[in-house]
Amino acid sequence: MQITEKDLLEKLKINFGYDSFRLEQKSIIENILAKKDTLVIMPTGGGKSICFQLPSLFFEGITLVISPLIALMKDQVDSLKANGIPSTYYNSSQSSEEQQQVFDAIANKSIKLLYVAPESLPLLQNVLNQNYISCVAIDEAHCISSWGHDFRPSYKQLAFLKKTLPETPIVALTATADKATQEDILEQLAILNATRFVSSFNRENIALEVRPANDRVKQIIKFINERSGDSGIIYCLSRKATEQLASKLKQNGIDAKAYHAGLNFEERAKTQEDFIKDDTQIICATIAFGMGIDKSNVRWVIHYNMPKNIEGYYQEIGRAGRDGLPSQALLFHSYADVIQLRQFIANTGNREVQEAKLDRMKQFSEATVCRRKILLSYFGELIEENCGNCDVCKNPPKFFEGTVIAQKALSAIYRLQQKEAMGTVIDVIRGAKNAAVYDKNYQTLKTYGVGSDTSWQHWQHYIIQLINQGYCQIAFHLNNVLQLTDFSKKVLFEGEKVQLTTPVEVKKELKTILKEKNSKKSTSDTLFERLRKLRYRIAQEEDIAAYLVFSDATLKALENERPQTDNEFLAISGVGQRKLEVYGGEFMEEIKTFINEKKQGRKDTTLETFQLYKEGFTIDEIADKRNLKAQTIFSHLSKLYIEGKDVSLDEFIEADTLKLIANAKKVLKNEIALKPYFEFLGEKVPYEQIRVGLTILQKKR
Ligand code: ADP
Ligand code: ZN
Repeated sequence: MQITEKDLLEKLKINFGYDSFRLEQKSIIENILAKKDTLVIMPTGGGKSICFQLPSLFFEGITLVISPLIALMKDQVDSLKANGIPSTYYNSSQSSEEQQQVFDAIANKSIKLLYVAPESLPLLQNVLNQNYISCVAIDEAHCISSWGHDFRPSYKQLAFLKKTLPETPIVALTATADKATQEDILEQLAILNATRFVSSFNRENIALEVRPANDRVKQIIKFINERSGDSGIIYCLSRKATEQLASKLKQNGIDAKAYHAGLNFEERAKTQEDFIKDDTQIICATIAFGMGIDKSNVRWVIHYNMPKNIEGYYQEIGRAGRDGLPSQALLFHSYADVIQLRQFIANTGNREVQEAKLDRMKQFSEATVCRRKILLSYFGELIEENCGNCDVCKNPPKFFEGTVIAQKALSAIYRLQQKEAMGTVIDVIRGAKNAAVYDKNYQTLKTYGVGSDTSWQHWQHYIIQLINQGYCQIAFHLNNVLQLTDFSKKVLFEGEKVQLTTPVEVKKELKTILKEKNSKKSTSDTLFERLRKLRYRIAQEEDIAAYLVFSDATLKALENERPQTDNEFLAISGVGQRKLEVYGGEFMEEIKTFINEKKQGRKDTTLETFQLYKEGFTIDEIADKRNLKAQTIFSHLSKLYIEGKDVSLDEFIEADTLKLIANAKKVLKNEIALKPYFEFLGEKVPYEQIRVGLTILQKKR
């Protein structure tokens, strides 16, 4: 059977909801369908999964997906099922009954994809033959290489796959770019002739920004308040810092949790789960967090501390904006961090390499040219144009003649006999009256107080630039004291001119802050916000992550296009056939309600329902009159009931059913999601009844 481009696009739309392929996806898919071994290098969020998921729909047998993280498998399988693609996973924690079901599914060919961890492969030996398996995809393929940053011994055994399944195409996928790792992957998997597809590492939708670390916490609170409801991750260097920051944010009314390797397994799993499901908005984490997370609607990543190297930084910011929507990466740059990282490195094995990497990271942080250029050049990718989406591009530094400033700083270093670190040097220049100064009689020096008209932060900013330009240096081995260099005397004695930049102001005028506050209020009643709430409710009922119902990108498209018919709804990017069938109705209804409300000058929709209810109409009649679903009317009545309005919900539910639900509530320990009830009650009580029952029980309490 010849598969045409039209066939591919059709499946892409029906099963994934997308209208076109991203850059290399189509060529990759065609290569796999031609049964050729394939190596895919694509950045996180680039869209690797579709590369093997879509071909699986055309193959006769199953596509076996090897993935290192059990947590991720469930997410991927949920996502596939939400799109109507039969798939499952196999692991050692399943009961033998469940495992048997998997084997049956393979034998009947009733699933398209099977996810499995490498450790469990030996248990699948009976089905590891070409009658059953049409394709093997190896996700996170760099785990096979000890060159990579994430070597896993269990990946080593994958070498046998090519021998066992010589005719089956093997697809290796990873976001790790470097050449050595690529070669190693091919060699170890014995697929030396694999076609390679290496995509650009540029993630244009992530805006890059670096700020000085003064008042970090205040800056972070403001940053978050300007983005209410958005998910984000804040990376910190230490466990303690994650906890302190999370508690400070909580004190300020922000929904944040800490995550680090010191927490026990259950706590970590719970925190991660809450984040994925949008129950917790913000995670303050050490770098232990993020590996197992596919969440597509992480809108921002903050580095509270500077990362050790650019690889780490790139990987961490890559967790933002997988859905392709505009996202933010904000890095706080502090000299104290650089010094601390250097101390960590001093005690490690390959110190020189690590120091060189830290230096590159530092250069990135202090750059006065497009930051994306620096980032990509680190991975060997050159871009010609400035990106236009980093702080340097948006707000190019303004240079001024800073010779006098440089002279003041350098002569202070000289008068302090090159024995003091930056803090004391600045204190002396600014004429501080503190112990650091008085203990050593520095107030008698000639340069004492010559720079009192300039703020501490500005001096810090200037001195860092002098260091970067080589006019002075930090002696890391001597308690970080500032020292002069050969260049210093050119400035001090030979009339060399120095160019400096002023620090970018992060403080905004009070007026704009107030404006933002007001606009924040009004965002709560946008259509997007309403759709987001609906998505959250549905996800809770189905017990899956919210972004698996629809991505943020799809919600945005729904907000803009406001589809009101099935065809219009299906035309939205991210809506496939199954999602139209399962979710379309409720979302379109919400959109209609929203539009109607706007038309009627925001007459309260719940009160309108109440009015009709009081007039004696039945649920169905009200739904009919209002052009809404009965389900929506129910939820209006529930809301009114909780508010204490005169609504008797009891008439909508049998006493016996209510008893069953009350019992379930006890057994399920007051669970709030509806799905567990549905299952507990043998799938016999409809969701609507469960919802009404729980509302009544809640009120009674
Ligand atoms: P990766 O595995 O490379 O990190 P994913 O496969 O998780 O990336 O894809 C990232 C996001 O991009 C997902 O939300 C996915 O649905 C979306 N995506 C993938 N391909 C397309 C496409 N052709 N059009 C629109 N969105 C896509
Ligand atoms: Zn730029």
